[in-house]
Amino acid sequence: MVEPVFNRLCLIGIGLIGSSIARVARKRGDIARTVVATARRPETLARVRELGIVDVVEDDVAKAVEGCDGVILCVPVGAYASVMQAIAPHLAPGCVLTDVGSTKGSVVRDLTPLVPAGVRLVPAHPMAGTEHSGPDAGFAELFQGRYCIVTPLPDSDPDAVAKVREFWRRCGSMTETMDPATHDRVVAIVSHLPHLIAFTICGTADDLAEETKEAVLKFAAAGFRDFTRIAASDVDMWRDVFLNNREALLEMLARFSEDAHALGRAVRYGQAEFIEDRIRRGRKIRRELIERKQA
Ligand code: NAP
Repeated sequence: MVEPVFNRLCLIGIGLIGSSIARVARKRGDIARTVVATARRPETLARVRELGIVDVVEDDVAKAVEGCDGVILCVPVGAYASVMQAIAPHLAPGCVLTDVGSTKGSVVRDLTPLVPAGVRLVPAHPMAGTEHSGPDAGFAELFQGRYCIVTPLPDSDPDAVAKVREFWRRCGSMTETMDPATHDRVVAIVSHLPHLIAFTICGTADDLAEETKEAVLKFAAAGFRDFTRIAASDVDMWRDVFLNNREALLEMLARFSEDAHALGRAVRYGQAEFIEDRIRRGRKIRRELIERKQA
């Protein structure tokens, strides 16, 4: 039997991402000998006990991390600073502290000043998810074939970085290393802006007169339906993502707005070639995604 990556692994937050990690760890057996989980609400803890996806369910976050050689923050990024304050004095020396948060500059900003000496911080972000949340939403295959971006700090311990990469490899992911600022710009365009557009387009449809809204929902075409799927995402998580990747998101929104206006202008002035070019670029990107098996 291969040595597990962690002896005792603590998942702080056990929603879509935390419970998917728990499930893949249970299924494989070579990720952690013992998995401990903690969350905020008693209902969540009770449900995790019922599901039987971890070895220990702990309601006290400070107790949950005690004696763990691996700790993964799986809570919305806006909760990091308060969670870190609660766990910092209880983290075991040498422990690998990592996370799954969708923003990385804010994670480094919020965690670094609170990390006790000897605790090894290696932030990471699995590029896998769905619009569902909570411990029932997770599944063991979520990370299969997806990328996980690891954003080590200049002084991150190489052994801890290797452990985090091996952890994600065993979860089924390919890992890439990036600095936090590059990560934040990349995810702003591929994930955060599409969510901003989806929330906006649903809001715009909702603002239309009552009878039109009826018609919108009745005749919802595939394009609008795809946006509503994305727009069904978790409120806390996405509020925190937008507020914690402000600069990169606003930069991408400004670029997008310029490009959208250019296309709108082409429509106004009947510039068929410009319109065709934009559609062809969209089709090309879709084909490339399919070829990379990321569609
Ligand atoms: P989720 O399903 O909503 O689960 C969130 C978990 O965090 C729950 O267990 C919740 O506990 C706990 N929590 C929420 N607010 C908290 C607070 N203020 N203090 C302590 N615990 C709190 O969310 P998720 O989709 O797994 O997302 C978790 C993290 O993964 C986020 O940082 C997100 O950015 C990142 N991520 C998400 C996706 C995605 O597609 N969903 C993809 C990649 C990364 P209770 O149930 O007890 O409230």
